[in-house]
Amino acid sequence: MSAGLLPTPDFTFDPEAAGACVAGVRPFRKGAYRLDAETVSGKFVVHNYGHGGAGITLSWGCAAKVRDIVRERLTTSHDTEVAVLGAGVMGLTAATLLLDLGLDVTIYSDRRPVDTTSHKAGGEWGVSVIDSVGKKEELKQIITTAYTKFKCSVGQNFGVFERPLFTPKESENLEIVRDWLPNLLPERKKCDRLPVSGPARRGFEYQTLLIEPPVFLNRLETDLAARHVPIVLRRFASRAEVLALSQNIIVNCTGLGSMKLFNDAKMCPITGQLAMLPPQPGLKYLLGRDGYMFPRSDHVVIGGTTEQKVNSEVPNKACCKQLVRGIAKWFGLAPAEPLPDTHIHHPRNAPVVDPRLAASLEDR
Ligand SMILES: Cc1cc2nc3c(=O)[nH]c(=O)nc-3n(C[C@H](O)[C@H](O)[C@H](O)COP(=O)(O)OP(=O)(O)OC[C@H]3O[C@@H](n4cnc5c(N)ncnc54)[C@H](O)[C@@H]3O)c2cc1C
Repeated sequence: MSAGLLPTPDFTFDPEAAGACVAGVRPFRKGAYRLDAETVSGKFVVHNYGHGGAGITLSWGCAAKVRDIVRERLTTSHDTEVAVLGAGVMGLTAATLLLDLGLDVTIYSDRRPVDTTSHKAGGEWGVSVIDSVGKKEELKQIITTAYTKFKCSVGQNFGVFERPLFTPKESENLEIVRDWLPNLLPERKKCDRLPVSGPARRGFEYQTLLIEPPVFLNRLETDLAARHVPIVLRRFASRAEVLALSQNIIVNCTGLGSMKLFNDAKMCPITGQLAMLPPQPGLKYLLGRDGYMFPRSDHVVIGGTTEQKVNSEVPNKACCKQLVRGIAKWFGLAPAEPLPDTHIHHPRNAPVVDPRLAASLEDR
């Protein structure tokens, strides 16, 4: 390593190795994520889904909103039990905060946390691949609560770390936070030269958080188990099955599952590919923009693709290989190669799913 430069990753990658290539499906919702309540057949249903590529990032903030909605409900009802549907990050964080209300919480899910989309996420704290039409003020509160809670959990065995993020251009995922909430994040610095080996390029250094989803979800699951919250493995085939649950308060955190379960035509799958390199503990920084690299304790995760309206968890090995080459290029270690059929969607850009959603910019 040259003086002043960050360690160069080892980009050795075998796409044929077990677990080297992963595909996950972001639960994107056109227009805006859903966070509201309705009464259906006498049941109070709180919806919390559609957070696209920012579910880990926003989880604690959304969970706090869910808790507040349920707390308000309890001023007019005597319910003591709540059912949480979903064992991804939204379900587990909501369940955790609902315990604050003294309720008996039961989680229902057709997958264990380790098998959810949440478990596959890369783990950068950044507001990415999400629409929020008409929800700017609410989202500002969610972002503030979520960031503050994650920041407080650094060093507390939640898999959350403060890390610099280097980008050749501004990171839209963080610029929107700087724009809306100027005092929330640490200062961003301009770099005359990004501190990585290879071709010199200008860029930016942000301070953000790395949230390792496998560690974070495991911690949530362990803590919930210690507080006697069961995860009941069960698939719901219809809304009627959900409404037949014994609990009167139901919190719906089924992510993409809401497309069928609650007949939500605004839900739109956006698949992303991830290349998982062996862990490299010396790497303590993130790279972002048009492909990203997040060094975690389990893997160095390289990703950044979005395949709209594709709902497939089958990894694309060729794509993963290209993702690795794309990041290696930063270090002068691979020939230039465009990302395959990708688009990085940021909340303030024109939405990728439907151009008519350009209206989503109106309140930003
Ligand atoms: C490749 C990739 C990279 C990502 N990177 C990041 C990142 O760096 N930062 C970030 O903040 N976010 C990231 N995300 C986004 C993040 O993963 C999602 O926003 C988040 O996981 C959504 O959480 P969820 O709990 O709503 O959904 P899920 O994790 O999908 O959980 C849904 C739950 O509902 C259950 N369920 C669904 N339907 C039914 C049914 N019919 N019956 C019973 N149970 C049901 C499922 O079993 C599951 O338990 C990434 C996503 C992908 C795909």
